[in-house]
Amino acid sequence: MNRIDSLRKKVDELNEQLLDLLNERAKIALEIGKEKQRIGKPIYDPIREEEILTRLIELNPGPLPNSSLIMIFREIFKACRMLQEQQTDSQLLIKKTKEKEQTTITVKGVTIGGDTPTHIFGPCAIESRTQLEQVAEALVKTGCRLLRGGAYKPRTSPHRFQGLGLEGLQLMKEITEAFGLVSVVEVMDERTLQEALPYIDIIQIGARNMYNYPLLKAIGQIDKPVILKRGLSATIEELKLAAEYILQAGNPNVILCERGIRTYETATRNTLDISAIPVLKNETHLPVIVDISHAAGRKDILLPLARASMAAGADGIMAEVHPNPQFALSDANQQLSLEEFYAFMEGLKE
Ligand code: PEP
Ligand code: MN
Repeated sequence: MNRIDSLRKKVDELNEQLLDLLNERAKIALEIGKEKQRIGKPIYDPIREEEILTRLIELNPGPLPNSSLIMIFREIFKACRMLQEQQTDSQLLIKKTKEKEQTTITVKGVTIGGDTPTHIFGPCAIESRTQLEQVAEALVKTGCRLLRGGAYKPRTSPHRFQGLGLEGLQLMKEITEAFGLVSVVEVMDERTLQEALPYIDIIQIGARNMYNYPLLKAIGQIDKPVILKRGLSATIEELKLAAEYILQAGNPNVILCERGIRTYETATRNTLDISAIPVLKNETHLPVIVDISHAAGRKDILLPLARASMAAGADGIMAEVHPNPQFALSDANQQLSLEEFYAFMEGLKE
């Protein structure tokens, strides 16, 4: 064996030792990652990394210069961090697995996420007893069980109707109880959440609040199902992780809602992202519904959008219905009249 060969043999042996040591280190990093996840500590800890580097520089006997040492160890930190993040991602609570394929949620005898499609209809905003009663009656006539209606409205302009608040909640409770329906009402923050809770069956988190992480954490502590709407410009990943906040905080009953996203298109109010439906159905075990009214912003294309949503695998649809849409205090252009609603329901059966 010549000198180069024998030196190379040593290098090979050292590489193998390094390989073992690196994997040993990765295993311990994974253990640390698990522990951090358990106590809710972030994976990335730049201060700790700097401390390690400072110590290694102090100990460095050379000939490797400190700059190379730093470069190598930064790569090692990064690789271990990526491993830890992969481990955390594979353990997401929303993730569809063989053991958990589909969440079903039952409220007052109505099951969401099961074999029967979920139909949620009702006015954009609760405006009066007569208005809500008329819609409730139409729902009962068509066999729909979920009545939506906003008591707090997230309006673009502060000068527009903001919702009836507590009065609206009281009407919603009275009317859903009288008609045997299940209520869906949006809450805007922790105060309205607490105010609304005694009056409603399903909590809605609107598109504008999908990123409100403190609110998502608060919802996680509530024992009522939640409809979580996709943010106006949120990616599917961001919607999934917003749901993860609620599950992680302790509430497993989350229903995801695609409601259209902002694009350059102006023919519709938003662009209904049909792809989101199969992606969410494939990657999570949560029920997925589609709000076709806020996606379209118009009512002439609701039936094809509903059909497309159901064909793509949605568990149900939501749409706005108002006895006199032309006089509605919000979203007048997109709400179905009662006659249009009956026709829509007939169309859905075809
Ligand atoms: C609503 O459903 O009343 C509503 C305001 O919708 P979004 O949050 O999707 O805009
Ligand atoms: Mn609306």
